[in-house]
Amino acid sequence: MKLIDIHTHNKEQEGIAIYNSGTSYLEDRPISMGLHPWDIGDDWKEKFIAVAEKAEESNVVAIGECGLDKARREVPFGVQEEVFRAHIELSEKLHKPLIIHCVKAHDRVLALHKEISPGQAWAIHGFRGKPQLAMQLAKEGIYLSFGELFNAESVKSVPQEMILIESDESSKPVREIYRAIAAARGTTIEELAGTVEENAVVFTQFRPDRRR
Ligand SMILES: [Zn+2]
Repeated sequence: MKLIDIHTHNKEQEGIAIYNSGTSYLEDRPISMGLHPWDIGDDWKEKFIAVAEKAEESNVVAIGECGLDKARREVPFGVQEEVFRAHIELSEKLHKPLIIHCVKAHDRVLALHKEISPGQAWAIHGFRGKPQLAMQLAKEGIYLSFGELFNAESVKSVPQEMILIESDESSKPVREIYRAIAAARGTTIEELAGTVEENAVVFTQFRPDRRR
């Protein structure tokens, strides 16, 4: 049984993981690269250029985490959106999916997805929202990645082809997160692992049919 961990900050995490490497490049594992909305400073353009250069490497399998955070008032929302759009463009250019950090800005992510109609898959990581929002995002074709903390009703109601699993900053083995989410969905850890593995393959593939 393969346990795919779509987003982790823990190098020691078990399973097959996409390690969130942020702005620094690591060559020894599959990583995602991007500028977290909390790390946006006046020098973001320089940092982003460095990310964009390194993101071409083959072990960079996703762009992110990047996104929008309305709780982070230090960075004006307009600037956050400018940086997020730069990541979306990079994801489209390199044909690599997007891992999104989103706090209180799901309406904006939905609107951008509708506006851009990206060829690359998007996933909201650490999704803890309610079922209605989960369904809205899933219907738009945005993946939901669930971690240690989740809304059980949302986990239950999301279509199985839109589910991903992650450990994020948790120190728990990803297996335990799989177990909890399998229980919430009324399924087995084996079945959930198979589903997430299939979804992860689709998530990381370029989908030319949806490209502009
Ligand atoms: Zn994270």
